[in-house]
Order: sequence, then structure tokens, then C-alpha cells
Amino acid sequence: MSKVAFIGLGNMGGPMAHNLVKAGHTVTGFDLSADALKALAAAGGTAASSAAEAVAGAEVVVSMLPASQHVAGLYLGEAGLFSQLPAGTLVIDSSTIAAETSRQVGKAAAENGIKFLDAPVSGGVGGAIAGTLSFIVGGSAADFAQAKPLLENMGKNIFHAGEAGAGQVAKACNNMLLAILMAGTTEALALGAKNGLDPAVLSEIMKQSSGANWVLNVYNPWPGVMEGVPASNNYQGGFQVDLMAKDLGLAWETALSSKSSIPMGSLARNLFALHAQKGNGGLDFSSIQQMFAE
Ligand code: NAD
Repeated sequence: MSKVAFIGLGNMGGPMAHNLVKAGHTVTGFDLSADALKALAAAGGTAASSAAEAVAGAEVVVSMLPASQHVAGLYLGEAGLFSQLPAGTLVIDSSTIAAETSRQVGKAAAENGIKFLDAPVSGGVGGAIAGTLSFIVGGSAADFAQAKPLLENMGKNIFHAGEAGAGQVAKACNNMLLAILMAGTTEALALGAKNGLDPAVLSEIMKQSSGANWVLNVYNPWPGVMEGVPASNNYQGGFQVDLMAKDLGLAWETALSSKSSIPMGSLARNLFALHAQKGNGGLDFSSIQQMFAE
């Protein structure tokens, strides 16, 4: 069992840290929110009053922060944790951030003899609570092997995507494809409905035909077609439009820095940004169906 410092105890980090406590690790956490710290203490962890205090004596540091600037701010610079952590410490950043930032942070870690992995997750808050997240990891094979048993306490599928930054790139590719599949599926359903088809019948036909995809199989976006999905619950819960828009922005940044062409991803990014602008940022991303139904 390890001494783990956990920075960022929000919707995802909170339950992930709780699962590490459950697995028997000694977890000290820090978050800017007092409520998040209370929840960790109630779950059997220890609340620290700063990130620096949380990492004192830690063998492994895990961070789960909102965006690139938070991760760079935590680790880099004179006040950053890399100037304080002993060489040999394993640092796992599970935030979804720009691959370029992950590489910069990884480079600074290496300069200080610190092992760094980018390990963004897929599976949402439900997966974080159930301990069934997918971890998509970038970094050296040796560091990945060291981290894997700990990640297995929070997730089910642990992938090694490649070298530093590869986890973020793979996550951006996956979510860009998901956004394209969602936008395409909602467009097809709206076209059928406009031409007199029952969306449930059309969904079944496409599911058994060459248009079949994950959205049709488990996440149908048309209200009432499938039970237990956000579309049948006024698009509440699930994966927010704002978070999808953020991930599409990261895919776009990745494309820009590698001079890659992403016409479909760019279109999906604009559609989700427009949908968010109309006040739908807090709804599940399948609510893009409303844009085509209107
Ligand atoms: P969140 O906003 O609920 O949690 C982030 C936490 O970080 C907050 O509690 C905040 O107080 C804390 N924080 C911010 N700056 C800090 C600092 N300097 N020091 C300590 N704590 C700080 O966000 P979340 O939903 O938990 O998402 C975290 C990351 O996981 C994001 O990068 C997100 O894109 C990614 N992600 C989220 C989901 C999801 O469904 N929510 C799914 C997959 C990946």
C-alpha cells in the first residue's frame, strides 16, 4: 500500500480518492473547496491545508484538476511542487488537458528526477464512483508498470497509449470521434423523423445496419427511445456539453500543433460551441439532438 497525495477532489477526484482509501492506501488530499476536504476526511482520508502539505512524505501524487493552467500552476515554477518533491516520486496527472502542456510538465518532471505520467480518464462521474474508469496513460513503460496497480484501484481498463502526452492525444481523438458520432446520429434521426419515420424504428434499423455505432447502441439521443439515458431524463446527468466543448477544443489544439486536418472535428466543435452558447452547456451532450429537431 502506498502513501498517496491527491490534489483536486471535485466530481471526479473526490470519488477516485475515496476508492484509494477503500483499497487501503494512506491518502492525504488537498482542494480549494472546504466541502471537498470534509468529504475526504469523512471517507477516511486526511485533509491538508495546502498542496505542499499534502505531498509531504508522499510516494505517489495524483492530480485531477479542471484544465491545463491549473496543472501547470500546481507543478511548475518556483512555488510549484516539482521544486519540492524528492527525486523518484511518481506523479500521475489524470486531468484532461492539452497534450502540449502535459509534455512540458513531463519534461520539467524529468529535469527534477521525478516520474510523470499523463493519465486522463474516460467513464465519467459514474465510473469514478464505481471504480470502473478507463485510464489512458502516456509515459515510460517502467513508470506505467509502477502506476498500474494503483490505477486498478480506481479503474477497470488501464491502457498504455505511448510516450509522454500520448494519453492526452488518445483521449482527445476518442472524444472528438464521440462528438462526431453523436452529431451525425442526431442529424440522421432528425432527418428520418422529419420524413415521417418513428425515431425508435429508425434507430433499430440503423443499429442493425451499417450506420451502427456506440451512440445508437447505448446512448440514444432521442427522448423516450431508450430507457436510463440522459435523453429520456430531460438531458440531465451524463456528460455535459461544456465538457465536450472543452475536449473538442483540446483536439483542435492538438491538430493545430501537429498541422493535422480535422474537418469533421472542427465542425463538431462549432456545433457544440453553438449549442453551449444557447444556454445548454449544463445539459448532457446528447441534447445536441434538440438543435436538429428545432
Ligand atoms: P471539478 O470542477 O468537479 O473538480 C475540480 C476540482 O479541482 C475542484 O474541486 C476545484 O476546487 C479543484 N481545484 C482547482 N484548482 C485547484 C488547485 N490549484 N489546487 C487544488 N484544487 C484545485 O471537475 P471534474 O469534473 O472533477 O473534472 C476534473 C478533470 O477530469 C477535468 O480535466 C475534466 O475534463 C476531466 N474529466 C471529467 C469528467 C466528468 O464527467 N466530470 C469525465 C472525464 C474527465
